Amino acid sequence: MSNINTNEQIIAFKSAIDRSKKIVGFTGAGISTESGIPDYRSKGGIWDKFQPVYFEEFVSDEKKRILYWQRKQELWDDLSNASTNKGHMFFKHLYDEGKLVGLITQNIDGLHEKSGLPKDIIVNLHGTNLEVVCLDCGFTISSEKVFDNLDLKQGVPLCPKCEGLLKPNTISFGQQLRGEDLDKANNLALSCDLMIVVGSTLVVQPASSIPSIAKENGALLAIVTLSETPLDGYADFVFHLRVENFINLIQT
Ligand SMILES: [Zn+2]
Repeated sequence: MSNINTNEQIIAFKSAIDRSKKIVGFTGAGISTESGIPDYRSKGGIWDKFQPVYFEEFVSDEKKRILYWQRKQELWDDLSNASTNKGHMFFKHLYDEGKLVGLITQNIDGLHEKSGLPKDIIVNLHGTNLEVVCLDCGFTISSEKVFDNLDLKQGVPLCPKCEGLLKPNTISFGQQLRGEDLDKANNLALSCDLMIVVGSTLVVQPASSIPSIAKENGALLAIVTLSETPLDGYADFVFHLRVENFINLIQT
């Protein structure tokens, strides 16, 4: 993309934002890399280096449960130190202007919550690391409380209510996405007039079909990612830029 075209596109995109009343954000790993959160699924990421622990193994094998919690503990150290960046604040500003009605994310890092967006407009498609959930009774606790007192030499943590297995409230390999979250995401896609995708390569199904639903239903579609996506030819705006560079351009 040449600079002249980029500038024209930026002006057109800004005016699309001005005209929109119901914007929905859709974010993936690329929005958080500038906060120091690695893309775990990419080459060299944690899932590339280690065998993943499948949900079935977590439920049935104590050793796998310990291994899973060890990795989550390392990840928690990264997450609790991570700050929001310009990408997260871009969506927070749209919310403050009364334009953002929902934010769908594939990320589990909780940075949209940290940016100040209200929890009830965020759809965490792959769950969240901010909470730990009991697999038996559904009781949820803040992750902070669990990780602050975590001693895996004593075994994995158990539910204070029913002694069931506790697990960070994220979707594991081999686990289905939650129906209610998919419903919420679909409804947002159907009701928005502009969907802005940031930092997702739109290849993981079924999450990647959500921007298509918005577009088919008459919304404008904008995509901001470093690499190409399967929906680029279909979108109204495509910016192959780092998130921070993109935000700098629209703020000038
Ligand atoms: Zn329980």
